[in-house]
Amino acid sequence: MSTKSEKQNKENLTPRPPIVVVMGHIDHGKTTLLDYIRKTKVTESETGGITQHVGAYEIEVPASPANRGEKNTKITFLDTPGHEAFSQIRKHGAKIADIAVLVVAADDGVKTQTEESIQAIQKTGIPYIIAINKIDKENAAPDKIKKELSEKGIQIEEWGGKIPCVNISAKTGNGVNELLEMVNLIAELEDLKTDPNANASGYVLESYLDKKRGIAATLIIQNGKLKKGMRIVAKNATAPVRILENFLGEPLKEAGASSPVKITGFNETPESGFKFESFSSKKDAETTKTQIQRHRVLVDKDENDKNKVIIPLLIKADAKGSVDALVQQLKKAETKKVCLKIVRAKAGDITEDDAKLASGSENSIIIGFNVNASSNAKMLAERFEIQIKIFNIIYKAEDWIKEEIEKRTPKEEKEEIIGKAGIIKIFRDEKNKKIIGGEVKIGKITAGKKVKIYRREFLLGGGEILEVRHNKSKTEEVPEGQQFGALLQTKVNLAPKDTLEIYS
Ligand code: GDP
Repeated sequence: MSTKSEKQNKENLTPRPPIVVVMGHIDHGKTTLLDYIRKTKVTESETGGITQHVGAYEIEVPASPANRGEKNTKITFLDTPGHEAFSQIRKHGAKIADIAVLVVAADDGVKTQTEESIQAIQKTGIPYIIAINKIDKENAAPDKIKKELSEKGIQIEEWGGKIPCVNISAKTGNGVNELLEMVNLIAELEDLKTDPNANASGYVLESYLDKKRGIAATLIIQNGKLKKGMRIVAKNATAPVRILENFLGEPLKEAGASSPVKITGFNETPESGFKFESFSSKKDAETTKTQIQRHRVLVDKDENDKNKVIIPLLIKADAKGSVDALVQQLKKAETKKVCLKIVRAKAGDITEDDAKLASGSENSIIIGFNVNASSNAKMLAERFEIQIKIFNIIYKAEDWIKEEIEKRTPKEEKEEIIGKAGIIKIFRDEKNKKIIGGEVKIGKITAGKKVKIYRREFLLGGGEILEVRHNKSKTEEVPEGQQFGALLQTKVNLAPKDTLEIYS
């Protein structure tokens, strides 16, 4: 993956480890696989505390056969329950992970979430590996899975296609080393790079309340370096990099690209999925922060999804059958504007761990079906203002979620984006009025319309287009692909490369 700064500083680039996400249908063994890899490949140093769940971990594996003799290489696994990161990819088409592992249970088949995962992976264009899991089971039928995949257009290497496929058992560990080797091989082919001199940027994976030390978050560094003394900004949340730890809770002085790090001391809870930037001084950070009124989540390619409300949902039921039924029924209540993100769906009572998981995302709901909630779960839920609702009839749960969706539906579409333009030059820069030259990237620029001004993903502020010029003469609008001049009313300090979002 290459970010802007990577392109700008090609000569300074150094390799970075791959970030891997495990996807697949529920119960096909994602958690078991991640647990197996974590347990067998993470060496905890003696100083490290008890492994805490921070949503990601790093392992070290031998270099691939092609690079024998090289030292070990690292792999970062996203270990996020509900795969927050990948649901972000689905929503925003952003590349968070570099490689995906698609788990399909050998005793089951290609299911809804398998297909959803395939679509998400293909949309982002990241390379992926099929892991046919539960190969230890008597009724495992890997060839049936391969056939189903090929019917979906996925041609595996063994059958003359391009997609690597490995048979594994996440339970016994069989085939897992081969899978990791394959990840390694793909990573080498991808030639992932980072600019170690850049200030770290990346995204927020999870946030939580550290009982003793305040608001903490796991960040994944995508590019650059994070050092103690820097300052982090993620939307409105900011933190000094004073307590910097790796995923094991061990203190670090600095951390580089692809590393999951835990930062403690945020002023407010940073939302998972949001981008973060880091600054070498508090002053730099403060100016940026005051400019940020709204932050766009990662790369917002899908305009339709942009205003979607997401309700994180945990489902606990008395049996696997009812879990499945509930997921299926509740999902039907989704609307164009509100969708449910199932972060966990499992049989069993509602536990403290469920409440903890729910506390990781804002506005989460826990729905129970014929189960109880432990008193610790209730306490935690109350503290984090998480709703726990328990039902004993499915349609009641359905009705309730419909109401909740209705309540959370944004009342009206306020604005319609009619175009996007890039600023090329600033001709005149007065306090409230600016004359700029630019080019229309998408749609059109129209006199009299309002604009939002962005610097990368940060919203700097708004303004109004007072006048538009094309080939030096005044005009109503300038279409896509054309250059223009414009008189803007805005207080924002504009700079070349800023983008204008024009809306009515
Ligand atoms: P997830 O929903 O995809 O995270 O699935 P889980 O990891 O929770 O696995 C669902 C069930 O399948 C659990 O009961 C696991 O113990 C079981 N399971 C996962 N992997 C294997 C495997 O390789 N072999 C067998 N026999 N069972 C497995």
